[in-house]
Amino acid sequence: MKIVDLRSDTVTKPSPEMWEAVKSLDNRMIGDDVEGEDPTVNELEETAAKVIGKEAALFVTSGTQGNLVSLLSQTNPGDEILLEELSHIYKNEVGSAARIGGLMVRTYPSNKGVPSFDQLQKLIRDREDIHEPPTTLISVENTHNYHGGVIIRPEVIKDMKVFSHKNDLKLHLDGARIFNAAVGLNVSVTEITKYADSVMFCLSKGLSCPVGSIVAGSKEFISKARRYRKMLGGGMRQAGIIAAFGLIALEPKWIKRLADDHKNAKLLSQGLKNLYLPIKVHPTDTNIVIIEMLEKVRILKIITALNKVGILAFNISKEKIRFVTHYGINEDDINYSIEQIELILKKYL
Ligand SMILES: *Cc1c(COP(=O)(O)O)cnc(C)c1O
Repeated sequence: MKIVDLRSDTVTKPSPEMWEAVKSLDNRMIGDDVEGEDPTVNELEETAAKVIGKEAALFVTSGTQGNLVSLLSQTNPGDEILLEELSHIYKNEVGSAARIGGLMVRTYPSNKGVPSFDQLQKLIRDREDIHEPPTTLISVENTHNYHGGVIIRPEVIKDMKVFSHKNDLKLHLDGARIFNAAVGLNVSVTEITKYADSVMFCLSKGLSCPVGSIVAGSKEFISKARRYRKMLGGGMRQAGIIAAFGLIALEPKWIKRLADDHKNAKLLSQGLKNLYLPIKVHPTDTNIVIIEMLEKVRILKIITALNKVGILAFNISKEKIRFVTHYGINEDDINYSIEQIELILKKYL
């Protein structure tokens, strides 16, 4: 049976060029990275810093670890941090900010990931008042997963920088899919990242590496982050073997490939919009398509029926299903998916 796996861009597997790069490694190109002695990891970190436009970078095991080391490095236990209410850090990182960072988390509402600065200002604590914890960091997610892979424009990140500066906060950018934002806007990624104090992005999503993420920022920030990575068990020794995939992933032509995923997502989105069915297809900026059922239905029944015909997807709420395009998906897969989704939705809605 044909399988079209639209659950996530995390299911991607490496390209032939990536395998070539890994196969050409030898013992001279790996070393103990905890001692800073893995040349391939060092090269990846230098390349990543350049590409993302920061002084230094750090290879981490996952996006979750990258976000956590960023929070730990820029706050103190007992501080309050501001997270968007549907953000990955708030919803999907097991409450690590509280459990491990000892941080108070306050969420802020947004219009598809974009905050209202009047509302934000009201959330800032009074530093002079000894009763209150200090607010010391704000995070922004770009592209924003639960808002449908929406792009937060550079002007917004700039405004957040101004706001952060005014209120003496650090600005963290959860850029798990930041290259999707850059490619979607057709701007250099540094146009977005330049306003953030710390940036995390994933190699293991649209960039299709098997494992790993990058954290970037100032040299001082990265040296702190390196200690926290060690604390969290992320010191990986001869990690050049996995870093080698990342070096290929950061080549301009591989980053540009994300445009294919966006094209396929638009195709899916348009195909689903053309169906005469009680669903809302949310706007598609990048590689994520979200459909919302406008009638009451048991969403897991739809997911199960889709799985039976080889279409894999996740429901992200009781009404919404998320489809993600990636390196493993082509135009034929999309056309097949539209056909099958139509048949199933007609049966259940
Ligand atoms: C996937 C994701 C992460 C976490 O990455 P993992 O490598 O899965 O831990 C963080 N933030 C966002 C927005 C994500 O989509």
